[in-house]
Amino acid sequence: MSEVHELKLFWPNEDATLDFAQKLALEPGLSDACVSLLGDLGAGKTTLVRALLRALGVKGTIKSPTYALLESYQLEREGHAWVISHMDFYRFTDPSQWEEAGFRDVFVAPGLKLYEWPERVEALLPVADLEIRIQVSSEGSREVTLRFNSRFSFPGLTEVGA
Ligand code: ADP
Ligand code: MG
Repeated sequence: MSEVHELKLFWPNEDATLDFAQKLALEPGLSDACVSLLGDLGAGKTTLVRALLRALGVKGTIKSPTYALLESYQLEREGHAWVISHMDFYRFTDPSQWEEAGFRDVFVAPGLKLYEWPERVEALLPVADLEIRIQVSSEGSREVTLRFNSRFSFPGLTEVGA
């Protein structure tokens, strides 16, 4: 990431996670972004993605890509077809899956890429435009670190302690 900005956030409850998802949905730079989600199992990565997809207008069931590794969505943005790919690399074990399961194609195509467990495929991934690291603190609350390049601006987000 060139010119990386860092922002620390505090989400006291799930509503705060949903709130952030709505702000993220408004970022113009989201269209072709690579968004990496880090955090332990149960940290809230899928919860955030689900809220983002809802905020962007996805209707119907939103499955976690835990087993399928990839779930795709077709939306419209500014009058154009828009593909969103939600991936979970937790069960990614074999680098040959990268081509076979179509991940290579996903990352060369336009569209929004959201992926959990980037640690599992690090060498194969491009540099993320936005990295969201979620840490569970006391019950229900989350400490979050955003790292992002100049595609993103997040007006109106208040940093912890600011
Ligand atoms: P991950 O994808 O990181 O493994 P999930 O999103 O599947 O995690 O699960 C997170 C769980 O934690 C959900 O059951 C959600 O309801 C709960 N949760 C509690 N507080 C929060 C919070 N502040 N943000 C997100 N999820 C929360
Ligand atoms: Mg998940």
